[in-house]
Amino acid sequence: MAVAAPYAEKTDEQQAITEMVRQFVDGEVIPIAEEYDHEDKFPEGVVEQMKELGLFGVMIPEEYGGMGLDLTTYAMIVEELSRGWISISGIVNTHFIGSYLLMKFGTDDQKDRFLPRMATGEIRAAFSLSEPGLGSDVQAISTRAKQDGDDWVINGTKMWVTNGLLSGVVFLLAKSDPDADPPYKGMTCFITIPPKIKKMGYKGVESTELVYEDYRCPAQNVLGGSEGVGNGFRYMMDALEVGRVNVAARGVGIAQRALELALRYSQERRTFGKPIAQHQAIQFKLADMATKVDAARLLTLRAARLKDAGQRSDLEAGMAKLFASEIGKEVVEDAFRIHGGYGYSKEYEIERLYRDAPLLLIGEGTSEIQRMVIGKKLLERHRV
Ligand SMILES: Cc1cc2nc3c(=O)[nH]c(=O)nc-3n(C[C@H](O)[C@H](O)[C@H](O)COP(=O)(O)OP(=O)(O)OC[C@H]3O[C@@H](n4cnc5c(N)ncnc54)[C@H](O)[C@@H]3O)c2cc1C
Repeated sequence: MAVAAPYAEKTDEQQAITEMVRQFVDGEVIPIAEEYDHEDKFPEGVVEQMKELGLFGVMIPEEYGGMGLDLTTYAMIVEELSRGWISISGIVNTHFIGSYLLMKFGTDDQKDRFLPRMATGEIRAAFSLSEPGLGSDVQAISTRAKQDGDDWVINGTKMWVTNGLLSGVVFLLAKSDPDADPPYKGMTCFITIPPKIKKMGYKGVESTELVYEDYRCPAQNVLGGSEGVGNGFRYMMDALEVGRVNVAARGVGIAQRALELALRYSQERRTFGKPIAQHQAIQFKLADMATKVDAARLLTLRAARLKDAGQRSDLEAGMAKLFASEIGKEVVEDAFRIHGGYGYSKEYEIERLYRDAPLLLIGEGTSEIQRMVIGKKLLERHRV
């Protein structure tokens, strides 16, 4: 449905790719999303098609078999995928963060070993910071890695590992020096193959608990090699910055879809002798929704473009993530209200969006954490 077509400047290549993804989403994702969501099924068929379209290697350089595109184009693609079903963009999300970590910090050997198979989607990546006892306070992690000959022995429990069950590789943060002061200087990122899973929970895309018990990780799988020891926290935080652009794009996508549904429903549903879209209260809602969607998209593209241009984008990525995830929830809620009682029915797509939108307020740093990041960066840039 071409209502409220997104405004954003696109190159011819970006136009062609986003159009292709939109057609794929309209034809293959939206028609199956309700069924797979309600039955908690992993969308294997859709993932196979995504592999064929090259969507697991969007930013991976061509020499490793990827498309070698920039963050801006990636954000545009993620918006389109999320417009269809955010679980689909969730399958790409941690994979993208893992490939970014390898591209930016991996040794040549690590790039050669993992990137070609990641570009095709043959192996997919998960990204693991959180533990049962913490999410925001990453420096408090308790998973330990102890060197033993050529291996590192890892013990600990990780929580909420999105794609953990079906991923081929997990980028895992562990404490390699528990006495380091400050603690972040004693953390290392390990490239692990998912260990035996003790518990799991899943809804389309799964988020699992992973238990590492005397798991042996060869030194060649320390991200960045010997230089990477003690630098894991810095690497992961760097990756979260691009991850924030990614989550912002997901917020824009889900909000865009909610707006489309509201525009359609409000012109079809009649009360008091006219379509509800002709009541001013509903029109005002639509006006606010469309304004928020466009503003969130522009913030997201600005953050992505700055990063692509090699400029600082920490503050801008935080703003985009904060705003787009918050308006994602608000716009979806307004569309839900516009649907009246039917918004509550599983027969209507808005019901799924209403359940999905709040996730974006949490992943890649909650809104409170974004505000802390934005506040800190603002003061750094405007020091008196
Ligand atoms: C579906 C799903 C998928 C996820 N996938 C992943 C994944 O793939 N990998 C991964 O590592 N993690 C993942 N997470 C975990 C996610 O990153 C954390 O849930 C998130 O960072 C918040 O951490 P927490 O849940 O421990 O909340 P807490 O950190 O305990 O925070 C609880 C509340 O306190 C607030 N708060 C915390 N500290 C402060 C402060 N200093 N000032 C003010 N307020 C504060 C928070 O904003 C929040 O409102 C996932 C979570 C979910 C729900």
